Amino acid sequence: MGKVKNVYLFGDKKADGDATMKNLLGGKGANLAEMNLIGVPVPPGFTITTEVCTLYNEKGHDYVVSLLKEEVEAAVKSVEDITGTKFGDKENPCLLSVRSGARASMPGMMNTVLNLGLNDEAVEGIAKKTNNERFAWDSYRRFVQMYGDVVMGMEPESKEDIDPFEAIIEAIKEEKGVQDDQDLSIDDLKEMVKRFKAAVKKQTGHAFPDDPWEQLWGSVMAVFDSWMTKRAIYYRKLNDIPEEWGTAVNVQAMVFGNMGSNSATGVAFTRDAGTGEDLFNGEYLIDAQGEDVVAGIRTPQQISKEGSKRWAVLAGVSEEDRANKFPSLEEAMPEIFKELNETQEKLEQHYKDMQDLEFTVQDGKLWMLQTRSGKRTGAAMVKIAMDMLKEGMIDEKEALLRVEANKLDELLHPVFDKEALINGDVVTKGLPASPGASTGQIVFFADECEKYENAILVRIETSPEDLEGMVVANGILTARGGMTSHAAVVARGMGKCCVSGAGNIKVDYKKRTMEVSGKKFKEGDWISLNGSTGDVYKDKIATIKPELSGDFGELMELADKHSVMLVRTNADTPNDSKVARDFGAQGIGLCRTEHMFFEGEKIIAMREMILADDEAGRREALDKLLPLQREDFNGIFQAMHDLPVTVRLLDPPLHEFVPHDEKGQKEMAKVMGTTLKVIKEKVESLSEFNPMLGHRGCRLGNTYPEITEMQSRAIIEAALDLKAQGITAKPEIMVPLTGTKKELKMQEEIVRATIEKVFVERNDRMDYLVGTMIEIPRAALTADEIAESAEFFSFGTNDLTQMTFGYSRDDAGKFLPIYLEKGLLEHDPFQVLDQTGVGSLMKIAVEKGRKTRPNIKIGICGEHGGEPSSVEFCNTLGFGYVSCSPFRVPIARLAAAHANIKQGAWNSEASKETLTDSASKIGDVLSSEFGVVEKEAKKAAKKARKEAEKELKKLKSEAKSIISNFEEKIKNLKKK
Ligand code: PEP
Ligand code: MG
Repeated sequence: MGKVKNVYLFGDKKADGDATMKNLLGGKGANLAEMNLIGVPVPPGFTITTEVCTLYNEKGHDYVVSLLKEEVEAAVKSVEDITGTKFGDKENPCLLSVRSGARASMPGMMNTVLNLGLNDEAVEGIAKKTNNERFAWDSYRRFVQMYGDVVMGMEPESKEDIDPFEAIIEAIKEEKGVQDDQDLSIDDLKEMVKRFKAAVKKQTGHAFPDDPWEQLWGSVMAVFDSWMTKRAIYYRKLNDIPEEWGTAVNVQAMVFGNMGSNSATGVAFTRDAGTGEDLFNGEYLIDAQGEDVVAGIRTPQQISKEGSKRWAVLAGVSEEDRANKFPSLEEAMPEIFKELNETQEKLEQHYKDMQDLEFTVQDGKLWMLQTRSGKRTGAAMVKIAMDMLKEGMIDEKEALLRVEANKLDELLHPVFDKEALINGDVVTKGLPASPGASTGQIVFFADECEKYENAILVRIETSPEDLEGMVVANGILTARGGMTSHAAVVARGMGKCCVSGAGNIKVDYKKRTMEVSGKKFKEGDWISLNGSTGDVYKDKIATIKPELSGDFGELMELADKHSVMLVRTNADTPNDSKVARDFGAQGIGLCRTEHMFFEGEKIIAMREMILADDEAGRREALDKLLPLQREDFNGIFQAMHDLPVTVRLLDPPLHEFVPHDEKGQKEMAKVMGTTLKVIKEKVESLSEFNPMLGHRGCRLGNTYPEITEMQSRAIIEAALDLKAQGITAKPEIMVPLTGTKKELKMQEEIVRATIEKVFVERNDRMDYLVGTMIEIPRAALTADEIAESAEFFSFGTNDLTQMTFGYSRDDAGKFLPIYLEKGLLEHDPFQVLDQTGVGSLMKIAVEKGRKTRPNIKIGICGEHGGEPSSVEFCNTLGFGYVSCSPFRVPIARLAAAHANIKQGAWNSEASKETLTDSASKIGDVLSSEFGVVEKEAKKAAKKARKEAEKELKKLKSEAKSIISNFEEKIKNLKKK
């Protein structure tokens, strides 16, 4: 076996790897290689593979160093050769950057070390070589600080502690009486390095390493270590990134954006990541290093003139000030902008997707440091996919696959109610970092966001440690940072409203206050953010759901074109039905009738029925309920005219309809004209140890058939009433919680007999279906028997999950979070369908059901019906529809299309495989046949040969005897 390659080189338009090797080289490494191959200028370097990270976690530091030593030394030599420098040299040192790079991007989650290779001697060499002593010492002090924090563990542990290096910088600035870092002298920087090193020695007990090789190994291992930090683990969990993927390490020759006014550094997007607009945009800083732009410490300038003008309007900066103080790269460095613009076009065309770029300009030369598919909001995702489809860059299927189904949720997120906004009081303005509107109470510390149901996290700037709080908060407001600051990038990724860089606000963490234009806000005060304009309002402002049209509508049409499964909705009111229909629902998959019984008069009649001592009493109460139920169904059928509506018969235990507190019971007694004692006794008699496994579902309808009769009558009478008006209702009556075929049969008979009675009474008929939920494991396992009565199955995966796992739906909240944290479960099975267990039962039920009734209608109406991976699973089982809550309908429609496209690809892969398989089988048969034929032929040939030889021999002997005869005759003749 050949030796495993652990280190992949790139540079000088050559590379060992390419863009297809993301799993091995990480996203960054694979793209650095690819950029070299397509002629984009990239500083030379090498990538240590993700597999080494896994080895590091298993076998540790020493193993990995000895594994890599030879390859890394050769790789460094190659960087030296390309750059004409020498690692560790006093005069012409080779300086390196060390960065992480996993398969999926994890912005800001892992470690980076820059300017590596500097020491007390090399710094002098750099100073001489660049003729810029200030730059050399500034780079050195940055290196010591970064290495100290990242590799030597100097980073502060608690949120109250200050970074020891920052404390030193502040002390020196105070001693020298200067405000800005730029005002420090070269001697101050030298002093800073000295004090930094002393602080490292004091705090860690180790001297700062001067040996560049020690620095390099330390940094490589620190990157591997950062794969397992708390924040990286949390990010992975949030984004479903498996731990075993590991991170690659990219080591590259340093290029410096902080070499003076002819140098710069920046980040850019080939299209707008917030709106999707096809506008090249981004931010840069002159005379700065990469981290300065994203860290949000200086307010960056815009790349394009157009972007810069838009920024100035939002930031309230005059055109004159903008042009003088904050010119765009297009204006400040036109040649560089031109090259950068050409590069961005080339990269977008090459990758056929919006790219997120990092670049550095070193002394007038442009270098690209990174390209990757840019994170974007849901709105941008839709617009970019549809635009690229129209531009002919991608096809329909690809456009659909480019939009994450769950991201559509963001489009359905609130905007401010226009009416409420009229009275809105804008207190300040920041940058519109992530669109949408949010309202909530101010919280200053990320780990305290959970204290409030609606929190707005307010920070001077955010860092990856704040991630958990950002997830919990409704919105994020920062005082510092541009459109590419941590807060902005992360919020956009989450689809969370964010206003960044609101420089007007002064945050005091100690006092837990925020001051803006003389107004003071304290923790808990309400504010509202508009992430689309950057406006910050005082007080709470009502929000509403947005309108959907344009690209979104086109995408949805495209989704329907490419899917086979329909999407229905779970709705119990005409209004919900209408909302869902507007979102494209193709029917109702679950109408929970119990929700109807809580309104007004209905609850009174319902309680009368519950209180009744006998059937006659119950029937009396049910007679009162009948017209009310009929009205309910009438409204829903009308809203869903021409589309099927699955109405489920009463499901919950009756105790849910009676009050459990004394006040409520007293009121009930009064209304019912009875005593509190009677009510108490009734409530007591209804209580069950395990109501979820108790007197509910079809057990109610089978013990009190009159309930099923009333509901069936109400359903069919409402449908016939509409028929008379020319409106088509398509009722499907669904029996809940079936466990045995007899249970369902009994319900079916009651339903059909009642409906038949109504048909006779009305002298009219219509089509309807009777089916059942499959939500008890026994029903799934005996689905062939159940299908004898059921014309359709609808999987109730909420109960099916509950009963398959044995986790109570009501109590699982106590232990599920712990199970998830401990890795005992990968997902909450009530949210993401457990395909292995619950899915197996579903598969059995589908197969058995179809055996009895080949065309049985099959759908799902548990919460999983709107969860993309579960929808995909239903597609593989050939379901006719999935049903979910109205606001998840668009998500399910897109997920259904994804499922079909992926399955199509899988099927064609599978059929390709089958074809290859068959071809090889035919080949095998042919060759074995050929073998037989060949053998036979050989045998025949041998035989023929033998016979021929025999014949020849015979002929020869005959000839011989003829000849000898002749000779004899000649002899005799001669004698004569
Ligand atoms: C189910 O169990 O999946 C279901 C849809 O019914 P419910 O949630 O009402 O029990
Ligand atoms: Mg159920």
